Amino acid sequence: MATTRERIIELRMQDPDMKAVRMAELLGISREAVRQILVKLKIPTNFWRPPALCIDCGKLLGYNHSHKRCFPCYSKFHHTTLICDGCGVSYELRLSEAKTTLKRNKHHFHNYSCRSKWLGRTYGFKKKGG
Ligand SMILES: [Zn+2]
Ligand SMILES: [Zn+2]
Repeated sequence: MATTRERIIELRMQDPDMKAVRMAELLGISREAVRQILVKLKIPTNFWRPPALCIDCGKLLGYNHSHKRCFPCYSKFHHTTLICDGCGVSYELRLSEAKTTLKRNKHHFHNYSCRSKWLGRTYGFKKKGG
């Protein structure tokens, strides 16, 4: 025979949104009794949402999260990998920056040194003498 406590846990699992009042009705006990048990079990009394999971890696996000992704996935999602036109190395760039860069310039580089080297090679800025 299940105890009231066990039945409350069971009800919560069946319906995470079930209110304490409804549980009290189902179990034939007072709402206050349900509330006290929930408090003891450290379950929020009003509503309970299953903890959110990162939509990319499935990692538990906990209750305080503002995005649907964990931090590493969130930053990955907002970054893109570009290949440097100068040295061919792949580098990470914020998606917003990448969009502006690609809109403005045909070529993109992972740093200024690569950019100037590439410009030198392509347009011969560094050519000296003959
Ligand atoms: Zn993640
Ligand atoms: Zn480079």
